[in-house]
Amino acid sequence: MGDGRRGDVTDRATAGFRQRYGAEPAGRWAAPGRVNLIGEHTDYNDGFVLPFALPLRTVVAAAPGPDRRWTVWSELDDEPVEFGAEEADDPGRVDGWAAYVAGVVWALRAAGLDVPGARLAIASDVPVGSGLSSSAAIESAVLAALVDLGALDLPAERWPRLAQRAENDYVGAPTGIMDQSAVIRGREGHALFLDCRTEEVEQIPFDPAAAGLAVLVVDSRAPHRHADGEYAARRKSCERAAATLGVAALRDVPTADLDTALARLDDDETRRRVRHVVTEDQRVLDTVALLRAGRVREIGPLLTASHASMRYDFEITVPEVDTAVEAALAAGAHGARMTGGGFGGCVLALVDADAADTVADAVAAAYAERGFAAPGTLTVQPAGGATRL
Ligand code: ADP
Ligand code: MG
Repeated sequence: MGDGRRGDVTDRATAGFRQRYGAEPAGRWAAPGRVNLIGEHTDYNDGFVLPFALPLRTVVAAAPGPDRRWTVWSELDDEPVEFGAEEADDPGRVDGWAAYVAGVVWALRAAGLDVPGARLAIASDVPVGSGLSSSAAIESAVLAALVDLGALDLPAERWPRLAQRAENDYVGAPTGIMDQSAVIRGREGHALFLDCRTEEVEQIPFDPAAAGLAVLVVDSRAPHRHADGEYAARRKSCERAAATLGVAALRDVPTADLDTALARLDDDETRRRVRHVVTEDQRVLDTVALLRAGRVREIGPLLTASHASMRYDFEITVPEVDTAVEAALAAGAHGARMTGGGFGGCVLALVDADAADTVADAVAAAYAERGFAAPGTLTVQPAGGATRL
């Protein structure tokens, strides 16, 4: 999935900087993509998620520039984009991919910080638009660069919220706090247990390699069909159900009371939506408990149950991801599920490290049999979050 042909991502950002600006960068900052181990559509229900940071990263090479001016180049585009404080202070004025950069400048300035003018060059190994959060990676790498260059007084706990604000309010993409939290706070050998209500986080040991395991990530390459409309519909359905049940959010329905709660809902579709959210929250908690106990392999069935719940109750899967999950399980994966909001995106499978290729081949073969575009596959271990290199 990462494109090895292009060479090292840090070298590409550095070379891009030299070529564009005819100078050496003052430094290089990196932020990873992320994948959600378990906990889907629980975030806006005030529930739990368990993402981890990927070894694929976005790197920003940067140096101070003229006051209140920002120039940014990305290897995804030919031309650099330049903007000043006036455009940065007016959400939406900078559009296209550079909005993710202008959004960070905007969020920092809106927080009253004196953001230094800068020149930036960006390279990335995080696939764009596959659900591995290249958006949070670019925001967080740029944020790290600007905070350092300006020696801004911004404690790390505030970074995720600021990066999220850039994406929500400047770019105009309504995402929760999970992506930025994972990308900024991720730690090698750990997953990040995030309570979306309190925003409390806890590092949970998750070291598949130490247990002889690996996580195989499959880019389903499925076109995102109606994803925005379906997402909005699921959200509305959950909000209505919470109102009917007299709770602030579905997170407040205890698993033990699920049957009673379901009996109070009058249509089958809503009942299935609620059942997904309540059982998914429980699966996150169960996964955390197993990982705390070092029982990594045993989380497999929870992953697979999560997929079934998304497929039959929440109805957010598509044939490509169902095929990938089924093929991975048939080839010996301990568990597999779609990860991300649905209607495409990626699948992850927990596999024996030495079986990763076999499982990847089995998924590719199942795709070929059904005439789907070849999937991308990648084996990952939990990596560290945003950092200066
Ligand atoms: P995802 O976060 O799942 O990859 P999004 O649609 O949320 O998908 O974000 C993808 C967008 O983020 C891209 O279309 C582009 O505008 C921006 N982006 C991400 N990485 C880069 C990059 N390296 N250079 C320029 N823009 C990027
Ligand atoms: Mg994104």
